[in-house]
Amino acid sequence: MQKLTKQSLLKHCSYIDGRWMDSEQTFEVFNPASGEVISQLCESSASQVAQAINAADNALAVWQALSETDRARLLERWQGLMRESLDDLAYLLTLEQGKPLNEAKGEILHAANYVKLYSELAAQLTEPKPAACAEHQSATVYRRPIGVVTAITPWNFPCSMVLRKAAAALAAGCTVVLKPSELTPLSALALAQLSIEAGIPAGVFSVVVGSNAQAIGEILTQHPKVAKLSFTGSTAVGKKLLQQCAFGVKRTAMELGGNAPFIVFEDADLDAAVEGAIAAKFRNAGQTCISANRFLVQQSIAEEFIAKLVEKTKALKVGNGFDEVHQIGPLINQRASDKMLKIIDTAIEQGAQLLDGGKPVESPGHFFQPTILTNITADMAIFHQEIFGPIVSIATFDNEAQAIQLANQSDQGLCGYLYTSNQQRISRIVRLLQLGMLGINQARLSNPAAPFGGIKQSGMGREGGHYGIEEYLDYQYVCQMK
Ligand code: NAD
Repeated sequence: MQKLTKQSLLKHCSYIDGRWMDSEQTFEVFNPASGEVISQLCESSASQVAQAINAADNALAVWQALSETDRARLLERWQGLMRESLDDLAYLLTLEQGKPLNEAKGEILHAANYVKLYSELAAQLTEPKPAACAEHQSATVYRRPIGVVTAITPWNFPCSMVLRKAAAALAAGCTVVLKPSELTPLSALALAQLSIEAGIPAGVFSVVVGSNAQAIGEILTQHPKVAKLSFTGSTAVGKKLLQQCAFGVKRTAMELGGNAPFIVFEDADLDAAVEGAIAAKFRNAGQTCISANRFLVQQSIAEEFIAKLVEKTKALKVGNGFDEVHQIGPLINQRASDKMLKIIDTAIEQGAQLLDGGKPVESPGHFFQPTILTNITADMAIFHQEIFGPIVSIATFDNEAQAIQLANQSDQGLCGYLYTSNQQRISRIVRLLQLGMLGINQARLSNPAAPFGGIKQSGMGREGGHYGIEEYLDYQYVCQMK
């Protein structure tokens, strides 16, 4: 750990009700770039998880007794401390998740921007609004914080996924119990340490860590004092958690998996499309929910597009994220690497052609070669699966109607990309694409002020901007006799 300057950011146990809580059982966290153990962390027990929820319930009164401006000031301090600790937070993030250090810094600054935005929105929460009513009455609509929020987050963005939820919920006046992924808990624990330094009161933001996600998840979804679960992760786990939340009619926000189409028309700027393809596919080694998953390329330019893409892909350097020459880090674990091999084998069996890559890199850690598969068709398994790794899968289409039909042929509807120079085409088809988010002639669309989220089985609810804070507020209608 010689590169961590502030050792207090490296924690080994859950942070509950303002205290670091030891336990006897431990689990290991691994460095995906080497396969070595980074740290042993204490498993939270069921009673510790319940304790965190009870503390969050007690802390509601403390947190809501602060003015919106005071809460905003604490959030502002929190994000300021993140920026001051940027190098240390990025170090921990790359160590446990593997992404290149500059991507890790980008994630942390992006996350800090969310906290900053929510600190500003906290200070401007909507005033009560009058509603039309009979003459002898007065009617008012209030916005009220929902209460205790539990949050479960994935490993691919160990910092920003946490803060997109926590900052919005805290700004709304809710308290939060977070369970980060057991694969990347160190970033969340470092954020908890910074929340203490920012002055966020005990119980307002707790972090429970553990490898038994199912057991912890059952408490986070079923404890009577929980008002809402905010989940980011796979659609399969999201469905289970929705069922669990149904018993208590808990509110839910679900940020689930994607299957992004990346559509390239013959009138597109092909160099821009290739640059966008590299960014949309290989950022975080393809392990993002908005990674381009299905390349749909017009037949007339497919050969040229593929040739340019293969050339650029061959130039990408795969290796340890701490070495700045590398653009692609490791996959998260051996299971992810095995999944890539299976996807490739099945696609080839079903008729795909392998143009480049196709294997794990022969080195310690879980590095995988950037891979290009062509001849993909909609009846192949790969077309309907979230790849979540560095595999480009390319199908072709003949005309606009076919492109739209292929793009929409998915249960998911999170994000997509469209490359064309024809403005009339853009106006025509944007509303026909069944997607929560769309990048046109560009692949970078994350923006703290915009509503991030999907339709269909990609989830429900939005994170970002005032849309994100709305998720943590209920309405109360009060009608008074004059
Ligand atoms: P995952 O669903 O396996 O795990 C997500 C979280 O849920 C982790 O904290 C995990 O420990 C926990 N979990 C797993 N099983 C559980 C259970 N039975 N009960 C309770 N909790 C459980 O997903 P992952 O592999 O960590 O992340 C990748 C997935 O997340 C991809 O599908 C990706 O698209 C999705 N994702 C979506 C968004 C979005 O904003 N829509 C953002 C990032 C990632």
